[in-house]
Amino acid sequence: MEMEKLVSLCKRRGFLFQSSEIYGGLNGFWDYGPLGVELKRNIKDAWWQDMVTSHDELTVAEGAPSTHEMTGLDCTIIMHPQVWKCSGHYDLFCDMMVDCRAEGCKGRFRADHVATSQCPLKPSKAPGEHGKCDLTEPREFNLMFKTIVGAMGTEEDAAFLRPETAQGIFVNFKNVVDSTRVRIPFGIAQMGKSFRNEITPRNFTFRSREFEQMEIEFFCHPDTSREWYEYWRDRRMKWYTELGLAGNRLRLREHDAEELSHYSCGTADIEYAFPFLTAGEYGELEGIAHRGDFDLRSHMEGKLVKNAEGCLEVEMGPDGKPKYKGSGRDLTYRDDQTNERFTPHVIEPSAGADRATLAFLCEAYTEDEAPDDKGKLQTRVVMKFHPRIAPIKAAVFPLVKKDGMPEIARDIYRALKKRFTAFYDEKGAVGRRYRRQDEAGTPFCVTVDGQTLTDQTVTIRDRDSLKQWRVKVEDVVDEIASRVS
Ligand code: ATP
Repeated sequence: MEMEKLVSLCKRRGFLFQSSEIYGGLNGFWDYGPLGVELKRNIKDAWWQDMVTSHDELTVAEGAPSTHEMTGLDCTIIMHPQVWKCSGHYDLFCDMMVDCRAEGCKGRFRADHVATSQCPLKPSKAPGEHGKCDLTEPREFNLMFKTIVGAMGTEEDAAFLRPETAQGIFVNFKNVVDSTRVRIPFGIAQMGKSFRNEITPRNFTFRSREFEQMEIEFFCHPDTSREWYEYWRDRRMKWYTELGLAGNRLRLREHDAEELSHYSCGTADIEYAFPFLTAGEYGELEGIAHRGDFDLRSHMEGKLVKNAEGCLEVEMGPDGKPKYKGSGRDLTYRDDQTNERFTPHVIEPSAGADRATLAFLCEAYTEDEAPDDKGKLQTRVVMKFHPRIAPIKAAVFPLVKKDGMPEIARDIYRALKKRFTAFYDEKGAVGRRYRRQDEAGTPFCVTVDGQTLTDQTVTIRDRDSLKQWRVKVEDVVDEIASRVS
């Protein structure tokens, strides 16, 4: 599939628009249109439902070491600046950036992306390869967006837009334990906006500056943390396959030792072979990291660094005091059955809602052949979304706009709308109406025709197989319901 075709369909059918497009757009920012907002919401709802609300804490999940509980949070985007100092983001959340000083270029590139970037000078090559290129040495660029809180506007009032949702969970760990009856092992889920001032946003929504994350921090006893890591890695992979990302474009990749963060003893990425990447390349959809006790300790003690022995210790400033002081709050956990007190280990499955949406869009895009109104085979574009995430679940058409067909169709439409997103269309040839729904990814179309007037049945058409079958008008809602959930 060529990416241009998907990008053009997304705009034409209202999945995605460039932000502030009428003013020329803003690089790295995207708006979801009427179909896109439903698709992304369905993906987020599926995640929240599968991970949190329908989690069964009474039964040991397949592959899990024991039962576990799940709960949620919704934290603010702007937090106390000390959060980011202790977490390490203030000092370390940087990419290396390279500028080109050449007249006519003035390009800015991520140092680790130079080889795959294009120099704006013609004939275009990778930055540094054109005769006129004049690249600076790589320098650090912090990806956090800075803002000012309050009216004074001084540097002391500087705060940051969160670059991840995770820290809101860590700093509320104690609040959740004290205000609920959750016991370890348990997870706290959160979804919401994150912001990163990416040096080179690109590849449609893949690398945006404003995006949504769906993160879980799972707290467990250090002795079982490796098993929980494996459980979450496999469970999260299964979630994508069950929603339709099966096949060789999706893969699970374990990081090797050099790739691991200094505090991690295991990380895996769930990756997708996006069509805009070169053959053999994959882009990250979600990272599942074993983070040990790094985060809770950082917020207790202060920013941590690895010492010469490879152990984590509080980083000291030139004055011999902690460089960034932690909260001093006790974030350890006491097991009320064993009386053991310990700092929980954390497993973090961290996903991006926009990258998942983009992967589902890429996977769904299909071109095949279907007969038109005259029975002639025509190429059709069809978005084969899993019914659970499809923006519209069913469309209802009267075959013609007379003989009482619109009235029956409207009643069916009203009944469907009480349960799911539905669409009513009586304009134009019925074949054209089917095509529009195929492009929107609507799994079922219900048509009221001449036979309906005599036997009270309608046809239901399946988007993918094009199979049609007749169902009694009164059974339409149940028939669709049984197929979309
Ligand atoms: P990358 O290496 O691609 O920059 P990352 O490893 O920095 O990603 P994480 O910090 O692990 O990403 O963030 C968790 C998830 O958040 C990612 O797997 C991705 O789905 C999403 N995400 C991160 N950065 C962006 C972005 N700029 N645009 C859209 N989604 C993002």
